[in-house]
Parts: sequence; C-alpha cells; structure tokens
Amino acid sequence: MGELDGRVALVTGGGWGIGRAIALKMAGAGASVVVADVNLVRGEESAELMRQSGNSALFVQCDVSDATSVETMVVATFQEFGRIDVLVNNAGIPGSNSIAHEVDLADWERVIAVNLRGPFLCARYALPHLISGGHGAIVNIASTFGMIGAHGSAAYAATKGGVIALTKQLAVDYGPHGVRVNAISPGFIDTDMAGRRSFMSPEAAAQNLAKREAAASLQPLGRQAHASEIGEVATFLASDRASFMTGSVVVVDGGCTATFNSGSR
Ligand code: NDP
Repeated sequence: MGELDGRVALVTGGGWGIGRAIALKMAGAGASVVVADVNLVRGEESAELMRQSGNSALFVQCDVSDATSVETMVVATFQEFGRIDVLVNNAGIPGSNSIAHEVDLADWERVIAVNLRGPFLCARYALPHLISGGHGAIVNIASTFGMIGAHGSAAYAATKGGVIALTKQLAVDYGPHGVRVNAISPGFIDTDMAGRRSFMSPEAAAQNLAKREAAASLQPLGRQAHASEIGEVATFLASDRASFMTGSVVVVDGGCTATFNSGSR
C-alpha cells in the first residue's frame, strides 16, 4: 500500500523542476496526479512519465495567475477523478534580479500574479473538494527567500513571504474543516528556475551553474539539492504521516538559513 493510495493530487508547475519531482514522488506513493502547468510540452511529458510507470495521470494546461484558467483546471480534475485530496502550489517564477528602485513594474505585477495570486486562486477553487474528501492537504512551495533577504529579489521575496503568511492563514481557517496546510521553504535546488539555463548559451549556462554551486558550497551541506529531495518532504506533508502538522513551514535548505553565508541566487 502506498501512503497516497486512492488520493488525487493536483500539482501546479508539475511539468518541470521541483513540481515534476513532486508529481513523480506522489504518483510513486499511489496518488493519481494532475499536472497543471502553463508549458504544454513539459506538462504532457510529466504526465506521460507517470503513465509509463503504471500510474494514473492527467495534464491540464493552466496559468495559475488566471482565475478562469484555474477554475477550468479544477473542474477538469474533478471530472476526471471525482475527488481532489492534495493541492501542491508549486508553480512560480523568479522575476528579474533587481533592487527595489530599479524593478520593472510589469515584472513586479507578474511575479505577484504567479507566485502569490496563483496559490490563492488554486486554493480558492480546490478547497471545496479538499474539504469534502475528508483527507485534504495543501502543500505550498515557498522559499528561504521568504524568510531572509537576498540581493535583488524584492518581488520574489515579497511573494514567498506572502505564501508563508497565506499558509498559516489557510491552516487557521480550514483546520476545523479537516484540511491541513503546510509550506516548504527550499534552499538551493538545481532546476531551470535557478537560471533558465536551457535558454542560455552553453558558456553562460556553465557560468550560471558554477555560480550557484559556489554559493551552495558555502552552506553546511555544501551542495545544491536534487528536486526529488523536495518531493520526499512534499509527499510526507500530503500524507497521513503528517496528520498533526498544519501551519508549519518546513525548511529544506541544507542548512542555508542556519548560517551567515546565505549566498545569492
Ligand atoms: P522551474 O522553472 O524549473 O519549473 C516551474 C514550472 O512551472 C515550469 O514548467 C513552468 O513553465 C511552470 N510555470 C511557470 N509559470 C506558470 C504559471 N503561471 N502557471 C502554471 N505553471 C507555470 O521552477 P522550480 O522547479 O525551480 O521552482 C518551483 C517552485 O519552487 C517555485 O515556486 C519556486 O519559487 C520554488 N523554489 C525554487 C528554488 C530553486 O532553487 N529552484 C528554491 C526555492 C523555492 P515554463 O518553464 O514554461 O515557465
């Protein structure tokens, strides 16, 4: 028996990076998984990977910042599987690396829309199903940047701090309805968000990777994490093994926030 057998998990941004790793772990634990991602190719690929392993999976193209898109995605999930037990609010974007007085306002609005409005919208439309299923769990992917400052991350940090506050607020409001709400704050995880390396020249990508690895090497565990290490924790939080956890922020950062050497993204 898998710990998520019979459960239906909706993973936003499940087409790539941390979201894909979470989707694969949850499918491995027995969940039927819906990948909600703006990226058609990567989203369908994630769902296909799960189906090839014998799991039940569906891809629904969705922009989490758009209310109609989110509502349609939640309806499609319910129509396909007849229940929703787990919502993982993972989709997020870094925005530009600018200090506050140089931030492009359109960039600020987009980061807020995807990283903060997105988790709120997904929760808003999924919560009635999470309540009625009797095993509801939300896992929000925040960031250590929502807990400490880092150079040039005004919009991103504001959204991740907001996600932590939203996590606690939803935990308070929906605990009495049997829905648990927790957040994970990852540190250095080697994904595309780390630098959009798949869009860079090989030289620029190598330089970006070296910079990330140098920063990560200053942390207690001395390396970046693999996305599957976040998938493990997300699966635990979604399962009944975490039955008395709600309103928690689980820091999975290799000790990054425990030390003075916080590095930069
Ligand atoms: P990636 O960029 O690697 O993957 C994110 C996925 O989400 C992509 O498939 C992306 O599509 C999709 N996506 C982007 N915007 C939207 C949207 N509006 N609606 C639906 N899907 C969307 O990111 P990561 O895996 O690195 O990050 C996942 C989460 O983890 C984010 O919330 C991030 O803030 C958080 N995080 C990441 C850390 C890291 O070091 N990587 C550290 C701490 C937190 P497309 O590629 O087409 O844009």
